[in-house]
Amino acid sequence: MKVLFASAECAPFFKTGGLGDVAGALPKELAKKGINIAVVLPYFTKMPDIYKIQCEEVATFSVEVGWRHQYCGVKRLILKGISYYFIDNLYYFDREQLYGYEDDAERFAFFSLAIIKMLENIEFRPDVIHVNDFHTAMVPFLLKEKYQAVENFRAIKTVLTIHNIEFQGAYSKDLLPDLFGMGSERFNDGATRFRDGVNYLKAGILYADRVNTVSPTYAEEIKTAEFGFGLDGILRLEQGKLSGILNGIDYEMNDPETDQLILENFSLNDLSGKQKNKQALQKKLNLPVRTEVPLVGIVSRLTFQKGFHLVLDELTNFLEQDVQLVLLGTGDPGIEHSFRSFGERYPDKISVNIKFDVSLAQLIYAGADLFWMPSATEPCGLSQMIAMRYGTLPIVHEVGGLKDTVLPYDLTTKTGTGFGFSEFSSYSLMYSTLSAIDLYRKDQQTWQQLIKNAMKKDFSWEKSSQVYLDLYKEIIQVG
Ligand code: ADP
Repeated sequence: MKVLFASAECAPFFKTGGLGDVAGALPKELAKKGINIAVVLPYFTKMPDIYKIQCEEVATFSVEVGWRHQYCGVKRLILKGISYYFIDNLYYFDREQLYGYEDDAERFAFFSLAIIKMLENIEFRPDVIHVNDFHTAMVPFLLKEKYQAVENFRAIKTVLTIHNIEFQGAYSKDLLPDLFGMGSERFNDGATRFRDGVNYLKAGILYADRVNTVSPTYAEEIKTAEFGFGLDGILRLEQGKLSGILNGIDYEMNDPETDQLILENFSLNDLSGKQKNKQALQKKLNLPVRTEVPLVGIVSRLTFQKGFHLVLDELTNFLEQDVQLVLLGTGDPGIEHSFRSFGERYPDKISVNIKFDVSLAQLIYAGADLFWMPSATEPCGLSQMIAMRYGTLPIVHEVGGLKDTVLPYDLTTKTGTGFGFSEFSSYSLMYSTLSAIDLYRKDQQTWQQLIKNAMKKDFSWEKSSQVYLDLYKEIIQVG
């Protein structure tokens, strides 16, 4: 079976979050299971040189983006047996950031059109194209509505994975003629229309053969008005082809026993290294080096979705305790600013690091005692799983993938792999946090048991990749 995995980001080349991690790890796991898988990505020039120099050009052609004739190069890099195809066009992909530009509609229209045209110019003939999020969600639509006459494409099946329903690619109404060189029929009949504009994700949901999201709970949640961001009606309509498949984490890159980015490796059988990482983290960030003080970590996009306004509401009260907080993240300027001012006011209690830094992230996962993830909504969340693998207990709002992955501490049975709260309020977050800190101080025996429970959980891609494999098989057999 041949699968083309299409994504806008992919670790270790470039990533902004969970999508990049999934695109980095899932294809590797599917390849281990015998699938002939290739990955297609934009050639973002910010990719490290070490990868750029290994790329070879395998095709060049032009892509019609509406009336525009755009150059397209295809570069290939083979890494650990997987072919990565990069779609090269400097005008679209030579940018500081991956997303957030005024012409994103055009950039990802080009990317989607180029993916399809690439298939006519390279050897790889996929049975399944697996697209991810709105950036590539137009591919299933284009195959069925623009290229339906192309014999070679007719048998191709498509899977769309929704990593976050908030980001939909909602653009203006005239896009089908302007960017895709098509008539407006599929806008006028509602197939791509949402709130009087073209919506890439909606088109993907309607046209893909299967749609999945990244945790079972989120798959249920997005069918409701509270979590669906307007697409819940469409998802209810299409629920027969919707499923939830829990993400895994990359077990090679997130292994406390071998991780090169932390000070000292450790394992379930010998946790002594964890304390040394805590000291190294405190030292590196100029916090008092004290192993007995409970240290809470944050590694995240700093947005309202991630719930950091709850943290900010209660931060003064929290920092009045004998605690430490280490934050690493970037995002909303207002949230960044508020954390920075706390950093200035309480330099011996909180270290605020507004940047993207993979090494520091790993040291926080390894060195912290607790990990805050109070997300308002969370499709799956990887950070809480990474934290647990490093024996750092997450405190989570019990929604989406957080609910599916963290077993909240139960006072009576003394079991759990972290701490949870169900009401989305700063009071509940702080109540849960203070109970966790109380346990840390008063009952180290139970605490150590919770660390072990967390580290024992299996968050590898082993199981979930099999579910994807079964999904591919199912749609190919349906014919
Ligand atoms: P999302 O995809 O919504 O941002 P996830 O929890 O699914 O959230 O994935 C976040 C990933 O990005 C994790 O691997 C996390 O370690 C990483 N990450 C987030 N912010 C930073 C940062 N500032 N520096 C380094 N890594 C980060």
